[in-house]
Amino acid sequence: VYQPPGRPGSVVEYRSRYEHWIGGAWTPPIRGRYFENPTPVTGEVFCEIARGTAEDIEAALDAAEAAAPAWGRTSPAERAQTLLRIADRIESHLEALAVAESWDNGKPVREALVADLPLAVDHLRYFAGALRAQEGGLSQLDEDTVAYHFHEPLGVVGQIIPWNFPLLMAVWKLAPALAAGNAVVLKPAEQTPASIMLLMELIADLLPPGVVNVVNGYGLEAGRPLASSPRIRKIAFTGETTTGRLIMQYAGANLIPVSLELGGKSPNLFFADVAAERDAFYDKALEGFTMFALNQGEVCTCPSRALIDTAIYDTFLADGLDRVRAIRQGNPLDTDTMVGAQASREQLEKILSYLEIGQAEGAKVLVGGERLDLGGELSGGYYVAPTVFEGDNRMRIFQEEIFGPVVAVTRFDGFDDAVDIANDTAYGLGAGVWTRDGATAYRAGRAIQAGRVWTNAYHLYPAHAAFGGYKNSGIGRENHKALLEHYQQTKNLLVSY
Ligand code: NAD
Repeated sequence: VYQPPGRPGSVVEYRSRYEHWIGGAWTPPIRGRYFENPTPVTGEVFCEIARGTAEDIEAALDAAEAAAPAWGRTSPAERAQTLLRIADRIESHLEALAVAESWDNGKPVREALVADLPLAVDHLRYFAGALRAQEGGLSQLDEDTVAYHFHEPLGVVGQIIPWNFPLLMAVWKLAPALAAGNAVVLKPAEQTPASIMLLMELIADLLPPGVVNVVNGYGLEAGRPLASSPRIRKIAFTGETTTGRLIMQYAGANLIPVSLELGGKSPNLFFADVAAERDAFYDKALEGFTMFALNQGEVCTCPSRALIDTAIYDTFLADGLDRVRAIRQGNPLDTDTMVGAQASREQLEKILSYLEIGQAEGAKVLVGGERLDLGGELSGGYYVAPTVFEGDNRMRIFQEEIFGPVVAVTRFDGFDDAVDIANDTAYGLGAGVWTRDGATAYRAGRAIQAGRVWTNAYHLYPAHAAFGGYKNSGIGRENHKALLEHYQQTKNLLVSY
């Protein structure tokens, strides 16, 4: 068990107050206002955060505009080297950052240690490599004519991120933008800014001042002026679908391109052959069923709908419920904990309201279904028991994103029915397909309208695998070398000698 920040023996120290990070320095909010940041682990306030406004965004854009030209002129080799140094720095402070992230967000520290932060590190290294691999572009038209392709940075870009994976989301956004030579103004989620501010401090000496600027604050007060600014050349957003619509409107007024990573209601399909034998494959599929509780269900690709073949429905579900009952929920700073606390009080309340909605519309609670009081100082924390509902795909709990450790289960009758139910949603981000049959896996993978379909796996996010949504789940892709070009202008010089 790690000690909470501020206690003797803790591996991390927070400041009691975080300002903005602008031009490589702590910068107080121009209007002088702050808000309180509680930890979901116990509910206690552990630091104050600057409450940014349009004036702070302008100051950050000034710093970014001043830094962008020189940073954009550095060689790809130099920028790749910087990304590699940032990756090394994160890696050598993995424990401190993991505890910081866990305290700010409520996620199990072991998840931050083994998944989120190593992924962030790999992401930086991947884009360092992708940038170098871009070099060398030149094509010849004929003996006398040559086409030169230059990848130019866009200039200053805006990035707005959510609270479910604060450090990982920050790095997903920063790595390609910085590799491409842009300067960034980033707005973290107001619920979880602290670990990102710690990261800024940690890497301060590795980047020229003004290349990365962080303005804290609420969506409407700080996010909106950033997304509405004509001074940015792109806005990258991850968050709710409703917010994504607004971002697109703000940016559209200035003809600024957007990339939107939005919500989901991802189906997880279990075909009958999964239960052909009680072997390691069957075990893995059961584990796949429990994946809805990973990161407390606060994952955009949360497999929040489980669709089970009617032929195996009763047995598979019974075994799945046993697995859910065995999930170890507790203090996020305990390395044995598998499910921690929901990220904020608002989120806790939203999930609890869906537990009521589900029951009111006639869905049956098979396990969980309530807030948990873990006792002692955790009593004030935001804990919800992993919950399995059984119902019908047209119910609200099957159609609306809950963003909690809640799965809604229903049955299907054959392949076509499975795909119909899977696609009966406004979203299209992730999906899981579990089957021993390669052809079924392939056909389902192609038929499901989602940007990412896992087969006999779930929740893997390698840096090179393109990630993004169909339908209301977003516009654009992340996590692939192609993303570099989304942060670049392509300049073509066609020269006749
Ligand atoms: P949110 O949309 O409420 O907030 C996201 C960010 O946008 C925050 O920084 C917030 O301050 C800011 N914001 C809010 N209103 C704004 C406005 N009007 N203008 C500018 N900025 C504004 O989302 P959330 O509740 O923080 O995050 C959860 C959502 O994020 C879920 O829907 C989840 O599915 C989605 N998500 C998607 C992905 C993905 O890659 N597709 C990844 C993680 C989370």
